[in-house]
Formats: sequence, C-alpha cells, structure tokens
Amino acid sequence: MTRTPEEWVALARELARRFAERAPRHDREGSFPFENFEELRAAGFLALTVPRRYGGAELPLPDYLRVLEELAAGDASTALGLAMHLVRFGAEREAPTIPERWFAQLCRGAVEHGWLVNTAATEEGLGSPAGGGIPETHAAATEGGWVLNGRKTFTTLAPALRAAIVSARIALADPGPPVIGNFLVFLDDPGVRIVETWDSLGMRGTGSHDLVLEDVVPPRDRLLNQRSAGAPDPRGEAAFAWFALGIAAVTIGVARAARDEAVAFARERVPLGQRPIREMPGVRARIARIELLLHRSRTLVCDAARAWHTRSTEPPPVADRVAMAKVETLNACIEAVDLAMRVVGGVSLLKRRPLERYYRDVRAGLHNPPLEDRALEQLARRALDEPQAPTGAVE
Ligand SMILES: Cc1cc2nc3c(=O)[nH]c(=O)nc-3n(C[C@H](O)[C@H](O)[C@H](O)COP(=O)(O)OP(=O)(O)OC[C@H]3O[C@@H](n4cnc5c(N)ncnc54)[C@H](O)[C@@H]3O)c2cc1C
Repeated sequence: MTRTPEEWVALARELARRFAERAPRHDREGSFPFENFEELRAAGFLALTVPRRYGGAELPLPDYLRVLEELAAGDASTALGLAMHLVRFGAEREAPTIPERWFAQLCRGAVEHGWLVNTAATEEGLGSPAGGGIPETHAAATEGGWVLNGRKTFTTLAPALRAAIVSARIALADPGPPVIGNFLVFLDDPGVRIVETWDSLGMRGTGSHDLVLEDVVPPRDRLLNQRSAGAPDPRGEAAFAWFALGIAAVTIGVARAARDEAVAFARERVPLGQRPIREMPGVRARIARIELLLHRSRTLVCDAARAWHTRSTEPPPVADRVAMAKVETLNACIEAVDLAMRVVGGVSLLKRRPLERYYRDVRAGLHNPPLEDRALEQLARRALDEPQAPTGAVE
C-alpha cells in the first residue's frame, strides 16, 4: 500500500463524509457500523499501522493521529473502534511483546482478510486494568494447553472481532504472587461468545459488548506473555503513547466537528428582526475560545507524538508529555463542545442535529487510559518524589 500520509488523510476525510451520514442511525439504534468497517477494509485502513514487512502501510504515529482525527470528525465510534485495532500493530512493531509468529499471523490477517483485533482486559469487578488489579478471568494449565473462563466488559468492536487478547490470572500450584497472562483467543474458538450489553451514553456504535469465555481451550502457545501481579505491564511506553494519543486524536475530531457546526450556524443565523448572531460579542468570544482550545489540544498531541516518534530525550519526558496531552485534550474538547452548543442555542439539543451526539461522544475518552487522576499522579510523582536534576538556579 503506497500512499503518502497526505493521501491517507485526504482519503480518511472522504470516508468520514459518508460515515457522518450513517452516524445518527447507529447512534440512535446503538448498532455496529459494519458498512464503515467494510469501507475501511476495502481502502486499506485496517492495515494502516501494520509493518511494511507484512504488507501494511506502517504509518508513523504523528500521521496516524491525523487520520484518526479526520475519521472521528465523521463518526467517533468508528474511529475509536479502528484505533483500538490499530494500536496493537503500531505499538507492537516498535516494542514487541508477543511472539513474532502470532504477530505475523495477526498482521497478515488484517492485511489479507480484514481481521479486526482488540484487547479484552476490563472486567466488571476489576474496573480499569490500568489500576493494576488481578483479573477474575482465569487460565488453568492442562496437558495440551489452557482452560480459560471469565467475562470481559467493554470489548470494543465485539460484533466484528476476529481475535482478542484476553488477560487472565494463571492458576498456579505454588502460593507465590499471582501471575497474569495475555492469551490470544479467536472469536470462533469453542466456548467464546458475545453478550450484547453495550447500551451507553456515548460511543454507541462501538459495539463494546461483553466477551464471555466458558471452558475455552486454546493450545499452549496462545499464551502470548505473562508477568507477576504488580510487575510493569509488558506493553510498556509504546502502547501507552499509541493508545493515549489515539484517544486524544479521536476526541479532537469530535470537537472539531462540533466547532464546524457552530461556526456554520453562527455565520448564517439571523434571528428575525435582529442582527446576525455572529456580531454578538458572546458568540464571538465563544467561537474564539473554541479555536484556542482546539489549537492547544492539537499542539499538545502533535508535540507528544513527535517526541515519541523521534525518541526525544528533552524534558519533560515523553511519557509525561503523553499524559499531559491526553488529560488536557479531553478537558479542552469537552469544553469546546459545550461552547459550541451554547453558540447554537436551543436547537443544539435536537436529535436531528449532531451536536447533542458530539456532546455525549466527546466524554468517552475520559474513561480510557490514562485516567486523569493517574496521569496527574504520574506528573506529581516525577516532580515531588524523584531525585531532582540540578536546575542551575542561583541560591
Ligand atoms: C468507549 C469505551 C471503550 C472501551 N473499550 C475497551 C476495550 O476495548 N477493551 C478493554 O479492555 N477496555 C475498554 N474500555 C474500558 C476502559 O479501558 C476502562 O477499563 C473502563 O472505562 C473502566 O474504567 P474506570 O476508570 O471506570 O474503572 P475503575 O477502575 O472502576 O475506576 C472507577 C473510578 O475510580 C477511580 N480510580 C480507580 N483506581 C484509581 C487509582 N488507583 N487512582 C486514582 N483513581 C482511581 C477512577 O479514576 C474512576 O473515577 C472502554 C471504555 C470505554 C468508555
């Protein structure tokens, strides 16, 4: 697939126009946008971050984020689902965590057959896996492999997934610290089923249903990696950067769509017998603030993505830039969509306009890692608890 980053962005913009037409229906019905994913597959987007050696486009992180923003401006659910799939390949090609044989199979599956892959880590009782808790889903060793049992929540793309990477506590004979393994599970493995639980405020088209595993018996080599509870997640900084900035880029896309709607409305709206609303100081101030919030978000995301891509050693550390970009973008974009609704006024509440959907969708990223409290704690720890580099300040 030989397209320039600019061509990918332009193509994403074209697809997003069609996605935007379908988005109200999927939002209303809470249905999965299969047609969007079929178009993404046909245009090569499912292999956007797959390494070239396996036939993918191997887009660098900064360009990938521009594509996500374009798609999210059309339909945030589709863009979020795609991001959950693509993050696997982008991060894995930079920092391998799974056996190459399986990675090659997932890559070829995405390139040649349009396979979708996602991580199934969250559970009802566990909450966010980023908290370091131990899954209730468990894996017991048998002679030929494993027996997996458990239930995952929030499994985005569930209606269309080919494979999931499922975290599970490994049952051990000795009483050491618990061990958590990540297992490759195919959706047609006997004992795997989807329970349609996803009926949410926002991102209603992501199909983030429950994944249930009942006596699933994958062979031994489907254990991709393992770690002791409390040890760092093997996915490391690459997954953190790709995932967190992907969420931020999707969020910016939603806020940009809201901005465009508000600007178009303000340019045209002339209430009977009054001045055009674009002349009203309150409207002008709000539009100006939206511009500022969007530019600030993009600048932070771009900075963090470049820092990651170039392996910058300039302070602040890349992981902190990523955390700052994610937290700031979420808050800024939520504010921007709120302001857009105030500009448009009462009709912004109507279902026949897209703003109320943007208002719901823009919030979802708050609940994807890194969560605000943990991100802020990361920054505080660096500033307050780690040894300080000399500042050169004169006492
Ligand atoms: C649209 C969408 C799609 C998703 N897709 C997927 C997916 O495909 N696969 C998947 O595995 N998951 C997915 N998730 C789940 C997501 O990653 C989180 O696991 C989920 O939202 C639960 O997070 P939580 O913060 O509410 O969890 P909890 O851990 O239950 O947290 C509850 C509250 O406590 C706070 N809290 C908990 N622990 C701490 C702590 N140590 N320090 C500070 N505060 C803390 C949290 O900030 C939060 O306010 C998705 C979520 C959404 C919204």
